[in-house]
Amino acid sequence: MIGIVEKHWPMSVGDGKATRKKKPRILAITTDCCTGCAGSPACIEYCPIEACMFWVPDEDHTPFGRIEVDPYLCIGCQKCISKGPDGAFLDGCPWDAIEMVPTEDWEAMHGVALPDAPPPPPGQ
Ligand code: SF4
Ligand code: SF4
Repeated sequence: MIGIVEKHWPMSVGDGKATRKKKPRILAITTDCCTGCAGSPACIEYCPIEACMFWVPDEDHTPFGRIEVDPYLCIGCQKCISKGPDGAFLDGCPWDAIEMVPTEDWEAMHGVALPDAPPPPPGQ
């Protein structure tokens, strides 16, 4: 898959109910403002999808790292972001390090068409 790096813990556990049935109109991406919350990412608690938000270690600056979003799993629910409509403040990332981007823009940038449903886990 394109745009995916190896997933490490901590990662989102999910609510066990939400699933992606259709490709969302918007996707979450983390920006360079992501600090990794010193290894205890606040954002992953909000994500309803298992393994959608995951840790990527900074190999040059262990134990630092950052959180990334799996575009094949994200449902665009915006629960991880802190910016609401009309400037309202939501509960998500306290560092405002998550942006929502149009899915078609992400696809154009990466040269891939995302599927509706996520691919099966490896080995299935
Ligand atoms: S996206 Fe925000 S809440 Fe999540 S690890 Fe980065 S800074 Fe912390
Ligand atoms: S938009 Fe929803 S599904 Fe996507 S990363 Fe944020 S909380 Fe998870």
